[in-house]
Amino acid sequence: MSTQNPAKPLHGRVAVITGASSGIGEASAEHLAALGAKVAVLARRAERLDDLVTRIDKNGGIALALTADVTEAEEMLSAADQVEAELGSADLLFNNAGVMLPAPIEELRTDQWRQQIDVNITGLMNTIGAFTPQLVRAAGERGVADLINTASIAAQNIFPNFAVYSGTKAYVAHLSRHLRVELGPKNVRVAAIEPGIVGTELQSHVTDQGAQDWLAGSKETMEWLTPEDIAETVGFIATQPPRVNLQQVTIMPTGQPS
Ligand code: NDP
Repeated sequence: MSTQNPAKPLHGRVAVITGASSGIGEASAEHLAALGAKVAVLARRAERLDDLVTRIDKNGGIALALTADVTEAEEMLSAADQVEAELGSADLLFNNAGVMLPAPIEELRTDQWRQQIDVNITGLMNTIGAFTPQLVRAAGERGVADLINTASIAAQNIFPNFAVYSGTKAYVAHLSRHLRVELGPKNVRVAAIEPGIVGTELQSHVTDQGAQDWLAGSKETMEWLTPEDIAETVGFIATQPPRVNLQQVTIMPTGQPS
């Protein structure tokens, strides 16, 4: 007879969530902890992470704050060592940290191009590099592990002036398809989540007036998704039976046309 508590389907699992100091990552950390996983929450803003850990503790969960910059490979390797030492091998990586800085290409905002490429691609790869050995090891021992990458609907659709961001997210989506084939035989499921617009801090970093106006206008015409909507999706993916790999999940506001 199974001793699994149906209210805690992720009991015994160790989840690492990047970009956990706000938005989708923060909500997902709380949700995965509520489902019974031990969670390691990673971002640069230590205070935000400490508040999150305190909240999770109060709700009976187990959480570890990891202050690190995903663009720094050494910091990510240290974070991975800390997770292994304090929580055990990670068997769920929600690879989610990202930035979105749209602007017309002719404005030559090379600083913003670099930031998006550094965080959304190099940071994503540093995280994969640091945690893949643990995922593979954990999958070998426990029968399943999850690598869930946050792409975007921008990986598939065309949004004027979002070319660099969309390019980084197309990288995430296509990489995920390849990694699924490579890691699936080792019981590591690989998924890409592709959300439409979710109300988070992401939009507050946008400096381009045209993009700001477009976002403000879209808020008038539709109800945006919430971070909790995405958190529920992450939880759904991770709680499937080991034979089930949701490869690519697109989640849109009902009113968003494309
Ligand atoms: P937020 O801005 O709320 O969260 C972004 C997170 O990434 C923060 O926790 C931030 O933490 C972290 N982060 C940024 N840079 C770094 C870095 N160098 N090192 C470590 N952490 C970093 O936005 P969202 O929650 O919306 O974004 C999460 C993901 O979802 C992103 O990949 C985004 O592209 C994607 N997405 C979002 C959509 C939306 O409409 N909101 C739609 C589709 C996809 P800190 O600053 O503390 O380091």
